[in-house]
Formats: sequence, C-alpha cells, structure tokens
Amino acid sequence: MGSPVCGFLKQNNIIFLRFFAILVLSCIPDGTNLCSNPSFDTLTIPPHSSSSSIPSSFKTLTLDGYFSFENLKHAAKDFGNICHYLPIAVLHPKSVSDISSTIKHILYMSSVTKLTVAARGRGHSLQGQAQAYQGVVINMESLDRPSMYIENGEVPYVDVSGSELWINILHETLKYGLSPKSWTDYLHLTVGGTLSNAGISGQAFRHGPQIDNVYQLEVVTGRGEVVTCSDKENADLFYGVLGGLGQFGIITRARISLGPAEKMVKWIRVLYSEFSTFSNDQEHLISSNNSFDYIEGFVMINRTGLLNNWRSSFNPKDPIQASQFSSDGKILYCLEMVKYFNPEKIDVLNQDIEKLLSELNYIPSTLFLSEVSYVEFLDRVHLSEIKLRSKGLWEVPHPWLNLLIPKSRILDFAEGVFGNIVKDNNNGPILIYPVNKAKWNNRTSMVTPEEDIIYLVAFLSSALPGTDGLEHIMTQNQHILDFCAKAQLGAKQYLPHYHTQDEWQAHFGTQWETFVQRKSAYDPLAILAPGQRIFQKAISIT
Ligand code: FAD
Repeated sequence: MGSPVCGFLKQNNIIFLRFFAILVLSCIPDGTNLCSNPSFDTLTIPPHSSSSSIPSSFKTLTLDGYFSFENLKHAAKDFGNICHYLPIAVLHPKSVSDISSTIKHILYMSSVTKLTVAARGRGHSLQGQAQAYQGVVINMESLDRPSMYIENGEVPYVDVSGSELWINILHETLKYGLSPKSWTDYLHLTVGGTLSNAGISGQAFRHGPQIDNVYQLEVVTGRGEVVTCSDKENADLFYGVLGGLGQFGIITRARISLGPAEKMVKWIRVLYSEFSTFSNDQEHLISSNNSFDYIEGFVMINRTGLLNNWRSSFNPKDPIQASQFSSDGKILYCLEMVKYFNPEKIDVLNQDIEKLLSELNYIPSTLFLSEVSYVEFLDRVHLSEIKLRSKGLWEVPHPWLNLLIPKSRILDFAEGVFGNIVKDNNNGPILIYPVNKAKWNNRTSMVTPEEDIIYLVAFLSSALPGTDGLEHIMTQNQHILDFCAKAQLGAKQYLPHYHTQDEWQAHFGTQWETFVQRKSAYDPLAILAPGQRIFQKAISIT
C-alpha cells in the first residue's frame, strides 16, 4: 500500500470498478487463439521489441532473489508442450516479499506497460496457463521453503509453502503417521498449482478434491498485498483462490488437513464389458459405508496386447480362468479400487474386501490383485514418468482433455464417445470415475455440473513424434466437445481451456458474476495468470 497506484485505486474505486466491469466483459484476451491451431505446436513468440527498457526498471528493486532476462525458454514451456509464450523476465523469488514487491512494481508501471505475471509451479499445465507472454513468470521453485510445520493434535494439519511438491508433503507427514487425505494421481505437482485448479483423484468421492481439504492460505493478491485467509478470515478471497485458476492471488503458504496414514494398500482391478454395469458398480461403491479408500476406473478401446498391458504388476485371483479370458474385441471397462491397511489387521481387511467385491458384477475371471506400500501406490505415476523420460516420451505434446459429466448423462456420453468418436486409446489412458458432489464445498471458484454425482473423464493422450498425432488428437477432442454441446450433456471442462470470454462466461454460468467481482477486488488491473486467457490486462486511468 501507499504506492501511487494503490492511492489511485482507493480514491477512484467506484469509477474504476464500473470501468473495469465494462472492460473485462468486452475484451477478448490478446493472442486468444494462439494455441488453438494444431500446427502451433512449435511456435514460440518472441518478446515485443518496445519492452527493452523494462529490465532496467526491475533492476531498481531490492530483492532477496533475482530476475533473469535471458535464456527464458524454459518459462515458455509446459507439460502440454503445445503453447510457448516467451516472457520478458523470470523472477526467482527467495521470499514472499520479492513476489509482493514485483507485483507492486508492475502495478506502479501499469500506465506505461502491459506487463502481466504468471506464477509457475512446475509448469505441468497443458495450454500455457503458467506462462506470461511478454510478461513476468515467477519461478515458484526458487521460493525459500521453510520446514513444514505439522500439527499433530485433534485436528491435524501441515503448513507448507505454496511451491511445495505433494510428494515431499507425503514423505514429511508420514514421519508423524499422518498424510493428506485427498490427492492427485501424480504427486510431483505443486500445492499452489493444484489448489488453483482442484486436485482430483480416486479419494475425492469421500474427501472432496484437494481444494476442500485446506484450512488456511497466505496469498499475494494482484494488488501486491500479502493476505492470510480462511473460512473465518477474508473468506471471500480464500474461496476465490481455491479453484480460482490463479486469477486472484499467488498462494505462498497453505494449511492442509491431514488424517492417519496406513502403511500398505491392497490394489484391485476387475473388468466389465457393459458400461452400465461398470458405472452402476462404481456408483454403488462411492455411496457405500466402509467402502474402498480410492475408486477410479479406465476404458480400454481396441487395445492390442491387452492382458499383458493393463495388469502388468497384478496377479490374477484365479490364474487358470484368467488365462482363458478373451475380450473378443469388445470395449472393456476396468474398475480400480484400493483399500489402505496396516499389516497387523490383514484378516479384517480381507473380510471387508470380500464383502465389497461380493456386491459387484464384474466378469468373474478378471479379478486381479496387487499389494504395495502406501507411498508406492500414491507415487505410482512417477514410475511411468521415469520410464517415459528414458525413452524421450515425457516431453512430447500432451493434448489432454478433462471433462466433468453429470451422472444422469454418463450413459449418453459413453455411448456417443467410446468406440464412436474415440476408436482406440493407443495414445494414452482414458480415466473415468464418479465422485460425490455432496462432499465438495460449493463456495470455491471451481465449476462443476449441477448434480450430486459427477464423473471425471480424462483423455490423457500423448502425441508421438513423427506422426500426425497432435492434429488427430486435437480434432478428436473437438469432436468430443462438440458432441457434449450438441447433446446438451451439461458437461464442464476440468483444467479448462477456452478461446473467448463468452465461452468462459458460459463455463462459469451463474458463478461468472462472482468471479468477475472477485477479479476486480483482488486483481483490478488483471495482471495475474494471463495464460488462462480469461481477462485481458486492464489499463489504469490517469
Ligand atoms: P503450473 O502448471 O505451474 O500452474 C498451474 C496454474 O496455477 C497456472 O495458471 C499458474 O499460473 C497457477 N499457479 C501456479 N502456482 C501458483 C501459486 N502458488 N499460486 C497461485 N497460482 C499458481 N490434476 C488433478 O486434479 N488430478 C490428477 O490426478 C492430475 N494428474 C496429473 C498428472 C500429470 C502427469 C500431470 C502433468 C498433471 C496432472 N494433473 C492432475 C494436473 C495438475 O493439477 C495441473 O497440471 C496443475 O497445473 C499443477 O501443476 P503445477 O503445480 O506444475 O502448476
């Protein structure tokens, strides 16, 4: 506070807010369609030449960390590997005050520059969401991470940096016999990155997504202010930031809810050839008491070498029957379930599992089991990462599509998409599982379909080098989206990506007005997370 810009904002708040509302509602962000064309995969946009005076202005700041102005290509890359926006500078902050000072400085310069700011967790975004074209990328990895504080009382929690990786939180909390309750499938993601989206995995049916398992945040807003927020204090900012796509502030600390951790997991897979039987069983399990701890599922369409592929580290309950199983070229649906346990209580566990399985209608010969440690299970995708990296296949383009479909239309979705639009899934897994929305807090910024049970469907495709894979997959994704729109399924994108503000408005629906109000309250010049392409940076009125 106290900068000329902040003073201006105070005095002219009402005029500004009116102006801002008109501005954001009428603007389509610069470069809106840059990622929409499949042929864009290698395009890198260089910074604008008139921005050459900006580096010297940043050099006047007193920081614990530093800026870099050269070799910035890393900040123009993400896991999606489809969009590449070169920033003008990368801030390597050491302290929260470095982030706050940089944002205040950008606000101060806002009458003469169009600079924006993107926090970059580890850049696992898909379409440039953690990038800032001709702006400043904040490399959150360099932020000093004080040791995690773990409260081991009646309501256990851990205080962590917004730049912390979930895998590190797992290892640290396990030392106290505790762990977070809600996860993502891959743990080498940052707290700030997943809390800006939702953080959904097979535990969300019971605990809600990661954004519903947070007690408190420390945030640097788009005004440069450092604010602590929770359900009790600055609640509007707290719920705005959770699932807020980085639009209202940069998360620098988070207090995450913990629960008791078990040592081992029993990991089970069974197959179905009828989608409705598969989804009925999934829905039955997510509604049962004393159910599994993790419930997901995936689709296998026209997979070659099926039985050698999908169960590589699993053992059949009945090897003879399993060896006789043939898919007959049908689409198969695999239900995946996990129960956590401590080895001393294996007998109780086996009884519980037997009871739960007896209530299901899978193909009897296709029961496969595995037993691994809790850490091995939660960190399972990292093993695939290591294998793919060794073959140079981790860095390929990833045109992923994630959708949330209301339960009432999931049969229509499956019938229209699996085998019709998507004829095989050789490009990568297709996950599908339901979650109970009743467990989700509807005060966050996250948008979901309006039903008590919703399905997450994730097309996790990789475009292999030297093929027309990227173009083919992106066209297929568009066909899926068109199908959902035409059939009026009420689907919502997760990790959403849109080209126009009208589409964003439709995505948010009745939540749009609140989203815009929060933007004007916490990031009035729209400098934060430009890579989401929701708002265009506003100009300040002098
Ligand atoms: P980034 O990609 O760096 O950032 C994501 C967005 O958040 C950007 O807009 C960025 O500006 C903003 N941001 C980053 N840090 C902060 C911060 N501290 N404060 C405010 N805003 C910030 N998601 C799921 O929900 N469930 C899954 O099971 C799952 N599995 C995945 C598996 C893999 C292999 C990958 C690559 C991704 C997966 N994701 C999953 C998606 C993941 O949640 C997103 O990629 C998310 O963006 C986290 O990545 P990141 O931490 O690198 O953040």
